[in-house]
Amino acid sequence: MSAPNLDIINEINRLKKQKNAVILVHNYQRPEVQDIADFIGDSLELSQKAVKTEAEVIVFCGVHFMAETAHIVNPGKTVLLPDNESGCPMANMITPEALIARKKELPGAIVVCYVNSSAAVKAETDICCTSANAVRVVQSLPADKEILFVPDQYLGQWVNEKTGRQMYLWPGFCPTHMRILGDDILREKKNHPGAIALVHPECRPDAKAAADEVMSTGGMIRFVHENKAQEFIIGTEIGIIYRLKKENPGKTFIPATDKAVCPNMKKITLEKVLRSLQENRYIITVPEDIRIGALNSVNRMLAIG
Ligand code: SF4
Repeated sequence: MSAPNLDIINEINRLKKQKNAVILVHNYQRPEVQDIADFIGDSLELSQKAVKTEAEVIVFCGVHFMAETAHIVNPGKTVLLPDNESGCPMANMITPEALIARKKELPGAIVVCYVNSSAAVKAETDICCTSANAVRVVQSLPADKEILFVPDQYLGQWVNEKTGRQMYLWPGFCPTHMRILGDDILREKKNHPGAIALVHPECRPDAKAAADEVMSTGGMIRFVHENKAQEFIIGTEIGIIYRLKKENPGKTFIPATDKAVCPNMKKITLEKVLRSLQENRYIITVPEDIRIGALNSVNRMLAIG
């Protein structure tokens, strides 16, 4: 590790202690940011951690909607997002106004909302889900009800396949996961015949059909720990490969494609984390009426786990 990085890390650790802060980091973040995490995980794991933390300040190294979720469940704490521009293009593919209009067309449908959405959208929905619990969430809903699933059509399509429920899908998608093709998975399986291909449900149907397993990033971490195989093809944002290698030094990880990089997830650097702690920026808050609406939807999800 370079000396400047070491200085920054020492200062981050000093300020963290002084401010009683915790650093939560998503699996897709830069390696050096993953290395300073108090806790690293996927959206569901990070939301659960945000609920339980006793720290007064949460530094959220992820994208905007994740920091919003941390504030929704923790209104009394200061939630900091080190880069205010780290948004999620998928979350921007739905607005509360457009959702309200669609709900009018589908009266009686239960609205299930992937957490990759703004707080204002969550407030208009009945229950949230993550890629880790989406199937469980949908299975928990009354069987005679139709479901409007927002905003990721590909996660929705996969949940639909697993549950057989009557579902309407919002036409949103993740531009990063869209870059992973079925042909990429098939090519890497041919190149590495013993490898197990793990793919995220945000991927297109052809990529999921070519995979051996479909799961969240938290699911991938556990699967690799528990599985005896030595080689894995990874069909998700490639930032997770750093963690997989670090925690499984004897195993080999092959990205399905090098193109699966989320530029928003890479905006946070060590320098920005330090500045965030030094200057208390950027503070993420949600107006109270929206927070309460969104909290109901998030809490219904957290009760399912
Ligand atoms: S990987 Fe996709 S869903 Fe996740 S933050 Fe980036 S654009 Fe959004």
